[in-house]
Amino acid sequence: MSDRNAISDEAFRKEVRSFFETAYPEELRFLPRRLRWSECKPWYLTLARKGWIAPAWPKEYGGMALSPSKQIIMAEETERAGIGRMPDQGITQVGPTIMRYGTEAQKKQYLQPILDGEHVWCQGYSEPNSGSDLASLQTSAVREGDDYVINGSKIWTSMSMDASHMYILVRTDRDAPKKQEGISFMLLDMKTPGITLRPIRNIAGHEEFAQVFFDNVRTPVDALVGSLNKGWTIAKALLGFERLGIGSPRRPRYAFTRLEKVARSRGLMDDPAFADRFAQLRLDLADLSSLYGRYVDQVRRGETLGADVSILKIWSMELYQRISELLVEAADEKGALEGDVDFDDDFVDVLSPFYMSRPGTIYGGSNEIQRNIVAKDVLRLPAK
Ligand SMILES: Cc1cc2nc3c(=O)[nH]c(=O)nc-3n(C[C@H](O)[C@H](O)[C@H](O)COP(=O)(O)OP(=O)(O)OC[C@H]3O[C@@H](n4cnc5c(N)ncnc54)[C@H](O)[C@@H]3O)c2cc1C
Repeated sequence: MSDRNAISDEAFRKEVRSFFETAYPEELRFLPRRLRWSECKPWYLTLARKGWIAPAWPKEYGGMALSPSKQIIMAEETERAGIGRMPDQGITQVGPTIMRYGTEAQKKQYLQPILDGEHVWCQGYSEPNSGSDLASLQTSAVREGDDYVINGSKIWTSMSMDASHMYILVRTDRDAPKKQEGISFMLLDMKTPGITLRPIRNIAGHEEFAQVFFDNVRTPVDALVGSLNKGWTIAKALLGFERLGIGSPRRPRYAFTRLEKVARSRGLMDDPAFADRFAQLRLDLADLSSLYGRYVDQVRRGETLGADVSILKIWSMELYQRISELLVEAADEKGALEGDVDFDDDFVDVLSPFYMSRPGTIYGGSNEIQRNIVAKDVLRLPAK
């Protein structure tokens, strides 16, 4: 694969745009829900064959090693073409984690199948009583011979019904003096006997996550990543990658392009009060894009993301909500309609960005928790 960093940003954008316009299936553009794996697998494989499935991964592991500005171009063009989000936990989260903390054998076993679309990953962190206070998690793994035996339950596990694998946080030492200790990070094949899924329906009526139950589920000891009882450090690093992914300007920008269409169709740009709010959101979006670029750059240089990446998550998701709220308001009486709504023969799904942005201040660590992190670890404010 040739080095796309060597060509100009403009030439790269043209190449990506024309490929996305011709190669992505028309019927999957701008869907108001997350894509199921069966729907998007052909597109995943198309990108994989082109060598474009992992823009941020280093070349030695089969990635594109794209510069931050080119990664942003790719994200912008993905959104412009209405390409749906694929199950991407392998690419954006567990892949980089294995590169950093995994053994050579784990890298060999797990990285290529992610690129090839053979392994689809989900995240087993939250539990019914451990969300914000994740370190209190209770799902246990007890060593028996060459296996760990897992018992307990995870909840809100996104796209777990399509996943072949889960990365999971488990308690491996109940007597550790601090709750952050005694937690391990493991890899798990979802076909292992003893795993049961109960899908959960979201506000828009879609089943995009599930509660997952573990009843004497055995995973081999070499599925442990890093050291036993030291999973918290890995979990935190991985949450950094997640916050970067959530902080991408892709979703707010998608909502903003919808807002622009609706506003023009309804002649709202002539209203100074509206134009003022619109301009403010446009500036906030530009702000988010440059902040995002800074963090992408940091990851590409191989630096660990610090606690300050929480700011990106807060900004991105609150902006997404503000834009989607103005979108519903701008659509006036049409703002209550489900599905594609006609605005001068331009069809805009007004409600789905509103629905999709609601949980954004909860998942990936709620914004209240992110503010606590910024207060404590960035601003060094005194804790109560
Ligand atoms: C759409 C969606 C997808 C998700 N996908 C996944 C997934 O794939 N894998 C996974 O593991 N998890 C997933 N989650 C779970 C998510 O990470 C948790 O919902 C989140 O961490 C919050 O935990 P909780 O739901 O238990 O809320 P709680 O922890 O019960 O919090 C409830 C409220 O109290 C606030 N609060 C709690 N403690 C404090 C505090 N100390 N200071 C200030 N405020 C506080 C919270 O901010 C929140 O507003 C998903 C959630 C959603 C909504």
